[in-house]
Amino acid sequence: MSTAPRNDRPYQICSNCIMDTSDSGIVFDERGWCDYCNNYHSTILPNWHTDARGEREIMAQIDKIKADGKGKDHDCLIGLSGGVDSSYVVYLAKEKFGLRPLLYHVDAGWNSQQAVNNIEKLVDGLGLDLFTEVVNWPEMRDLQLAYFKSGVPHLDTPQDHAFFAGLYNYAARTGSKYILTGANYSTECVREPLEWHYHASDLRNLKDIHAKHGTIPLKSFPQSDIFTFKLYYRYVKGVQVVKPLNHVPYIKDEAMEELVQRFGWQKYAHKHHESRFTRFYEGYWLPTRFGFDKRRAHFSSLILTGQLSREDALKKIAQPAYPVEEMKQDFEYIANKLGITVEELEGYRDMPRKTYRDYKNAMTFIDVGTWGMRTLGMQRAIIR
Ligand SMILES: [Zn+2]
Repeated sequence: MSTAPRNDRPYQICSNCIMDTSDSGIVFDERGWCDYCNNYHSTILPNWHTDARGEREIMAQIDKIKADGKGKDHDCLIGLSGGVDSSYVVYLAKEKFGLRPLLYHVDAGWNSQQAVNNIEKLVDGLGLDLFTEVVNWPEMRDLQLAYFKSGVPHLDTPQDHAFFAGLYNYAARTGSKYILTGANYSTECVREPLEWHYHASDLRNLKDIHAKHGTIPLKSFPQSDIFTFKLYYRYVKGVQVVKPLNHVPYIKDEAMEELVQRFGWQKYAHKHHESRFTRFYEGYWLPTRFGFDKRRAHFSSLILTGQLSREDALKKIAQPAYPVEEMKQDFEYIANKLGITVEELEGYRDMPRKTYRDYKNAMTFIDVGTWGMRTLGMQRAIIR
């Protein structure tokens, strides 16, 4: 499998993490450290507290959530994918913080057996209520096929958009004031660059891709543009997002082990592999068609936060994300499920590569928003 970068720069890899020139915008200093590493030390680390100070910060928020939730059936909403981050937030919320969350899950048709098991085990083990929103499959399929036909790298957008738009719309609709998410620095302090992973919240881009390549209207597919959820929901509807994992010690392996022991939770091979589509897309499609390997960012985050050695990360990244035999099975499974032939799917894999810029997008506005958030210290990870 080729993971060669496709831009014209001479190849370079960071001497501290494993990010490299497959991110065409990466910058190295005289030591050979990349800007993600420098940003981590200059901007993220000084503002990230998982000690007594972090506990005070999160407990103040928890007290407010409890007070505001008095007399209601639930005091907060948690989007649950079945992956480790969201699962651990659910566990913390109920057991450590004493909250009364309503769990919210979007079934976009691609749950792995582990994801289904993990959701069930947490719901039963903690005695919580779950609301599952099932995405209309013909619409989901049509949108996913439109992304394949469009030639862009960000094929995970239909799924990701359904997840977050569904959650935010549900919160606004039901008057929920607090959403707890699994977003965290510990495993995500190095964010995938936008050329690998475009903003799933850019509804303008999604609509244009679907207008050009879709075949049926999207009537019930969950939709929300970035302005609606960042501004209208936040400041008019009063929906706040809380990120508990940034205020407590969060070590991925230990968290998974705790979930396994407590609930019979099942591990899966790599971040995001709780969805069979995402496993195929991140593990096979993106590296072979575009030379982008998201594990580079995931492993680099773990290196910076002391959970993985650079040496081990280099060994892992030299191997395929999961067994090649299973990739072949996934290829057929995905073609079948989308209702196309293997040959048609191969055609999309081999067609000319496009980017989000080949379609209408809201990048100018999002850039301004990102700049504003960074200036205000609300966004500390590098987004480019
Ligand atoms: Zn680096």
